[in-house]
Amino acid sequence: MQDEAGSKPESDPPNLGDIVACRGCGKPIRFIKYNDKPHPVDAMPARGFVWTEGKIERATATGHPLSCQASHWTLSKTYISHFATCPKADEFRSRSND
Ligand SMILES: [Zn+2]
Repeated sequence: MQDEAGSKPESDPPNLGDIVACRGCGKPIRFIKYNDKPHPVDAMPARGFVWTEGKIERATATGHPLSCQASHWTLSKTYISHFATCPKADEFRSRSND
């Protein structure tokens, strides 16, 4: 079931890892689970806009739409991949088997 789309609570997601120091640059990061693998993100979220395609939220059994969500931008808390901001990202990635 879907709740009202559009407004999300600003609290942290429950599955954010603890803040640790990046082994490459020393900045605070956290690990999230992305595609079943830990992925480093900047510890402090940014404010960013997320594009959401419109969709039919409810329809009759024959597919006739009863309510729709128009395409829109949402201002949202965003966790930036640390690979995008870490100055040592290249060596970080190549050291996957240490
Ligand atoms: Zn780093």
